[in-house]
Amino acid sequence: MIIESVDVFAFALPHVRDIGDGSQDMVLVRVRAGGHTGWGECEAAPLPTLATMVAPMSHSACHGVLDSVLGHPLDDVADIARLSRRVAERGLDLLQTPHAWSGVEIALWDLLGKARSEPAWVLRGAAANNARRPYASQLFGDDPQTTLERARGVAAAGFRAAKFGWGPYGRGSVAEDAEQVAAAREGLGPQIDLLVDAGTVWDDDVDAAAARLPALERAGVVWLEEPFVGGAVWAYAALARRSNRVRLAGGEGAHNAHVARQLIDHGGLGFVQIDTGRIGGIGAASQVAGYASSRGVTFVNHTFTSHLALAASLVPYADHPAGLLCEFPVSASPLAEGVTRTPLTLDREGMLRLPDGPGLGLDLDLDAVRPYLQEVEIVVNGQCLYRTPELAQ
Ligand SMILES: [Mg+2]
Repeated sequence: MIIESVDVFAFALPHVRDIGDGSQDMVLVRVRAGGHTGWGECEAAPLPTLATMVAPMSHSACHGVLDSVLGHPLDDVADIARLSRRVAERGLDLLQTPHAWSGVEIALWDLLGKARSEPAWVLRGAAANNARRPYASQLFGDDPQTTLERARGVAAAGFRAAKFGWGPYGRGSVAEDAEQVAAAREGLGPQIDLLVDAGTVWDDDVDAAAARLPALERAGVVWLEEPFVGGAVWAYAALARRSNRVRLAGGEGAHNAHVARQLIDHGGLGFVQIDTGRIGGIGAASQVAGYASSRGVTFVNHTFTSHLALAASLVPYADHPAGLLCEFPVSASPLAEGVTRTPLTLDREGMLRLPDGPGLGLDLDLDAVRPYLQEVEIVVNGQCLYRTPELAQ
């Protein structure tokens, strides 16, 4: 097959709020080759991503993504890996490249799986599609009472683990943060695993993060996620040395496998969280999954958007031991929730598996997201580089 077309679509809610919810807008990628169509999603801000897809060459390390992909063969997984290297090399100095490429890469796996009538995890060479224990992923409430009610809600919904993050956490006093964590624990009850996401709020301030550890320990928190920005590997390591039972989690910002490897090797992580829609797709995420397990660090997905992104994020560790955690967005926007006609559902034991259908195994409901489609045009010196394509299967 030859990659005949790559079309990119930007979506957004009518009012995008200044909160830590990345599901308020969305970039979908449609690839066509050999009579088949694949879909992928970038975990990325739409407009910079569109620009990165179509940017004219600036110099040899600044090619737009599509320029490196169109017209190339797609017959097996090795072709996807070869294109990954080509895009990375030719887009080295365009920093949005991994985000943009991730959506294309995921669409290539979906397409290749459909062409071969195989699920993407089989295509990846995974020997099993093991059950994941989904944790309900949501934001802290603006006050402890709201957090308490959200925690009761996910407990009632049957989740066996839950994560609270962002919102006011880390922005007020140590005592206020402790109240938030205690409210989450109270709402979940003693049996449900509690995870906390600080959303990089302390930048690289190890003392500020360490001051929160006693409350996290009291609440039996399994992991403290992203206390620091991803590059502050030394700060992760320093905090890990000061923590007794709470493990550190991080890595969602990793935009290539090397960055993730630095965190695994030197950050003292218990869990490495990889967003397949940012790191360069299923291939790069799978590399990290293999490396993490060889180093005794638990790989988990990062996903806060649609079930298309969720399905892609589970492929890299499909064959890791059954029962590992996976992030499961429970309060995504109507845009992110609407895009799949057949969302991934929990089984009677509250566990989650990838679908067995070809590719990512999901049907998209384009009519449901059509109202959010952004009409965009990029014109340079009178030449149209991008115009929103027709949204169709
Ligand atoms: Mg996070």
